[in-house]
Amino acid sequence: MSSIIQLLPDHVANQIAAGEVVQRPASVVKELLENSVDAGATEIKLIVKDAGKTLVQVIDNGKGMSVTDSRLCFERHATSKIRHAEDLFSLGTKGFRGEALASIAAIAHVEMKTKQEQDELGTHLIIEGSKFVSQDVAVVPKGTSFSIKNLFFNIPARRNFLKSDTVEFRHIVDEFERVAMAHANIHFVLIHNGSEMFNLPASNTRQRIVNIFGGRTNEKLVPVNETTEIVSINGFVCKPEFAKKNRGEQFFFVNDRFIKSGYLHHAVMAAYEGLLKDGTQPGYFLYLDVPPNSIDINIHPTKTEIKFDDEHALYAILRSSIKHSLGQFNVAPVLDFERDNTLDTPYDYEGKDVSMPTIQVDSTFNPFADDAPVKPSSSSSFGSSRSSSSSSSYSSPSFRKADKMPAWESLYNGLDTASDEITEVNFESEEVTGSLFNDEDVEQAVYKTYQIHKKYIVSPIKSGMVIIDQKRAHQRILYEQFLANITVQHGSSQQLLFPLTLHFNKSELAIISEMKEALQNTGFVFAEFNSDHIVVSGLPVNVTESEVSILLEELLNDLQQEVPDSSFSQSDSIAKSMARSLAVKTGVQLSDKEQETMVNSLFACKEPGVSPFNKPTFITMSVEDLDKRFAL
Ligand code: ADP
Ligand code: MG
Repeated sequence: MSSIIQLLPDHVANQIAAGEVVQRPASVVKELLENSVDAGATEIKLIVKDAGKTLVQVIDNGKGMSVTDSRLCFERHATSKIRHAEDLFSLGTKGFRGEALASIAAIAHVEMKTKQEQDELGTHLIIEGSKFVSQDVAVVPKGTSFSIKNLFFNIPARRNFLKSDTVEFRHIVDEFERVAMAHANIHFVLIHNGSEMFNLPASNTRQRIVNIFGGRTNEKLVPVNETTEIVSINGFVCKPEFAKKNRGEQFFFVNDRFIKSGYLHHAVMAAYEGLLKDGTQPGYFLYLDVPPNSIDINIHPTKTEIKFDDEHALYAILRSSIKHSLGQFNVAPVLDFERDNTLDTPYDYEGKDVSMPTIQVDSTFNPFADDAPVKPSSSSSFGSSRSSSSSSSYSSPSFRKADKMPAWESLYNGLDTASDEITEVNFESEEVTGSLFNDEDVEQAVYKTYQIHKKYIVSPIKSGMVIIDQKRAHQRILYEQFLANITVQHGSSQQLLFPLTLHFNKSELAIISEMKEALQNTGFVFAEFNSDHIVVSGLPVNVTESEVSILLEELLNDLQQEVPDSSFSQSDSIAKSMARSLAVKTGVQLSDKEQETMVNSLFACKEPGVSPFNKPTFITMSVEDLDKRFAL
C-alpha cells in the first residue's frame, strides 16, 4: 500500500491552530493588546466596530517592526520573544508562542502598518486567510496598527456561533480591562462604534482600578502589600461591607498577567472568614509577583491558567496578608454594630495634657428666624458610636433654658402637661423596658426621645411628634461643626500617644497637602509630611484612631471626584466628606443621652432641616395628622 500521510499545508494548519487561540473577537483583542504591551507601547488605542465582528483595530506607539519582521510575524511559531527552551522559564513578555498573528491572519482580513523609530518609512501589509495580498512602503507613524476585519470569514460555522453584539462586546471589555489593569502605566483608549468607552491615562494601579470601575470604588479598597521570598503581593481587597451577591470584580494578576485560579480565590475567601454575609463575595484586585521560573504558564493556550511551584505556601501567604490588611484597616469591627462602645477608648489619657472640647452655646440664636445671624452655632461634638463614648464627647446645650427660650424649643411647649398621654404608646426602645415613665423620668425627660429601628429618633413635640433620621441629622451636625472649625480655625485636637504613619501615593499626597491647612483647622496635627507617607500626631476630638485611614481615603476619593475650584468649596467638600464618613450610621443603637444630644445639636444647627447632601433630616407629624389616620 502506498504511503498516505501528508504534511498539512500551512494555511490549513494555521486555521486549525486558530481554533485554539481565537474563539471570538475578544481573543483577537487580547492577543493584539498583549503584543502592543510587549512592544513597549506607552499608548494603546483599541477601536472596535459591531462588537469586533466587523473590525478590531489596535494602534500602538511601540517599537514597530522592520520590513522583514513585518512579514515574518505572520508565520506560525514566529516570535521575537524566546529563542531557547530555557527562555520559557524566565518569561518577561505576554506572548511567546508566536501563534497569535498566524492564527488571526488565517481566519480574517488583516491590514498592518508598522514603522520602527529609526526608519524613515514603514510597511503597509495586507493578508487575507493566510495569503499575502499586498506589501507596500508607507508613510506611517512610529509603532504598529493592526486592523482585523471580517473575523471567521472563511469559517461560517464559527461566525454563526458568535453571540449577540452585547455579549461579544462584554467579552472585549473584559479583556481590555484585564490588560489595562495589569499595566496602569500605559495609556489605554477604547472606542466602540465611534464612541469613546474608556480613556485611561497612565497612572498608578489604584487610580487605574478607580478609572475603570468608577469613583466609588476607591472607598471600597483596602491595600494589601506583602513581600516574601517566594511571592510579593500587592493590590487591594474590598471592604467586606461592599461584598456582592455575584462574583463581581475579582482579579488575580501574576507577573502582570491576568489569571484565573479557584485555589487562590479560596485563599482570599478564607481570609474573609466571619466577615461576610452569607452568599456574598468580596471584590479583589491582587497582583502577585513570583520568580518567572517558579510558574508554568504553558499549560493553557490562552494562558489564563498557570501552575505554581509552591501552591500551598502561596495560599497561606495570600490568606494571612489579606487578613492582616483587613484587620489593620479596622474593617472587621465596622460590621459589628452591636459592639460595646465603651471598649473603644483607645488610650488612657489620664494625667496627660489633653484639651477638652469646648462648648459655646448661643442661647439667643434662633435658627428659624429669617434674619438669623450667620455664625457657628455650636461646637459641641457628638461622637459616633464608633468613637469613644466618654462623657467628654457629649455635651448638649441645655434643653430647657428658663430665661431665654430659643424659638425652636417652643416645639416642645406645653408638653409637660401632655406627657402622660404618651405613656401608653409602646415605642421600641432598648433603654426603657419596664414602666415607660416613672415619676423621675417625667420630671427629667419631658422631651423623651425614642429610637426606632436603630434609624430614627422620635420625640413628642407640642404639635405632635418629630421624627429624625439619625444619620442625616448627625451629618448635618458634624458638617456645620467641621465647616466652622475650618473657617474659624479653632478645631480642638487630641494628641496621639503613638503617632500614626499613613501611606499614600503621590497624587493622593498632593491632594492631602493641598488640604493640609483645612485639615489642621479641623484638629489634625501632622508631625511629618513625606513623599510617600504622613505621620499624624493629633486628631480632631471626634475622630478615633481607627477611623483615620478610612476617613482620609474617603476624603481623597470625594475630592478626586469634585476637584474643588476655590478654597470655600474645598472647605465645604472637606466638611461634607468628613461628616459623611464620621456620621453615626443607620443601624447603630443610641443611648438616651446620645439621642438627646443628637436632637439638641441638630436644632442648634444653622440649617437643621436638611443634611449637607440636601436630604431632609427630620419630619414632623401633627396630632391632627395622627387623628386623621385614626379616623379612617
Ligand atoms: P508572540 O507574541 O507569541 O511572539 P505573535 O504571533 O503574537 O507571537 O507575534 C509575533 C511577533 O510579531 C512578536 O514576537 C513580535 O516580534 C511581533 N509583533 C507582534 N505585534 C507587534 C506589535 N504591536 N509591535 C511590534 N512587534 C509586534
Ligand atoms: Mg503575541
